[in-house]
Amino acid sequence: MNNKKKLIIAIDGPAGVGKSTVSKAIARRLRLKHIDSGAIYRAITYQVLKKNEDIGSEDVVVAIARQIKIEYKAQNKIIVNGDVVTEQIRSHEVTRHVSTVAAYKGVRDVVVKILRGLTADCGVVMEGRDIGSVILPDADFKFYLDATIAERAQRRYKELKKKDKNVELYKIQLEIKHRDKKDSSREIAPLIRDPGAAYIDTSALTLKEVMSLIIKKINSILRIDNISFFRSSNLFYSIVCFVLRFGYVKYLGLNVQGLSNIPATGGVLLVCNHLSHLDPPAVAVSLSRQASFIARSSLFEVNPLLCWLLKRLNVYPLNREGIDRDVFKRVMAILDAGRICLIFPEGTRSKTGQLQPAKPGIGMIISMAKNNGVRVNVIPCKITGTDKAFPVGAKWIKKEQIRLKFGKPIDLSDLLEQQDKRNYRAIADRLMEHIGGV
Ligand code: C5P
Repeated sequence: MNNKKKLIIAIDGPAGVGKSTVSKAIARRLRLKHIDSGAIYRAITYQVLKKNEDIGSEDVVVAIARQIKIEYKAQNKIIVNGDVVTEQIRSHEVTRHVSTVAAYKGVRDVVVKILRGLTADCGVVMEGRDIGSVILPDADFKFYLDATIAERAQRRYKELKKKDKNVELYKIQLEIKHRDKKDSSREIAPLIRDPGAAYIDTSALTLKEVMSLIIKKINSILRIDNISFFRSSNLFYSIVCFVLRFGYVKYLGLNVQGLSNIPATGGVLLVCNHLSHLDPPAVAVSLSRQASFIARSSLFEVNPLLCWLLKRLNVYPLNREGIDRDVFKRVMAILDAGRICLIFPEGTRSKTGQLQPAKPGIGMIISMAKNNGVRVNVIPCKITGTDKAFPVGAKWIKKEQIRLKFGKPIDLSDLLEQQDKRNYRAIADRLMEHIGGV
């Protein structure tokens, strides 16, 4: 591994995923040089268009790529044959044609040399499509950022809207789709996820959270003490909890027991029975530490305001159809970062007030945590009364007392050793027994 000064970080991902913002911020934080590899392909494309040459002719484009002199200066300043073209290479025209140019082998050969030359004497954060797989296969850290097309289009739209009022969202979405297709299907160095790259789905994450995940990963290996993960707590979350706590205590007589079972630091997987929509906030306002939550993805589609709120309150979507591998990874990252993650293993609210069977996914999460060496306390929590205060289907909240009790941490090895490790359902069932016994 390189020393800190020569640290090489590769960040790949599709168009509009926010690679530049993240890479720049990481580079600034770690005092490394930031290199946007796409800018070189853009510079070549710009030059071909400027010369009014045929973009479709590989020979012509490759000849231009071999002739031009591209300089990559600090602050991502790009100079082509002596002219500063930093702004021009971001034009719509260049964006439209760059994937065609980037698919030519001769062009890629030229760019590989330029990019490798830029890493010769310093540590870098380089972003692109093939950095981890082709340009810097020996990078110390590789990340693959992803997001849904809708989310990426929305981010690009917001960015472009600042400069151009007439920009249209659907056109951006089409363009991103088109570029995705070209970049992923080309023969040479296509956009792929290098097997050694850590995958981060940024769809529901803020910039700070993505940065934190990356820094944490680097941190855990390099032990760079002056960089901390999830450095700041979420102020908005604190304010919302402060206000809600008042209502829960004054109106619903919230009674909390066993709070001392929750350690002051370190990863905690809180597993709780589910009776009502009042449950997640009840847990949040009871804790002295901020938590992250997993909720069904359809909740994010109810309306834009709710979606906005959930994202800012550390809520992450779970796709309930099939196995949502991303959610497993996200939970691991939250726990690995020493944070609290609240999960309702039953997956849905109980209509009878009785405990329901848990989904096997929770068994898989616990098993994964153990296998990946993620240090975590699994703490059962039992809620009562929320089903009376706000049952499934109710319109109004009734004045009924809510009780919440946190149990002692469950002995993980005991839980897993008793079961066949792959029998996630058995682990999940055992977990429900613990919740019932709190
Ligand atoms: O990242 P950006 O959108 O500026 O990249 C522009 C284009 O350059 C991409 O759509 C892709 O076709 C190409 N590219 C590439 N390999 C890279 C970086 C960019 O093919 N490493």
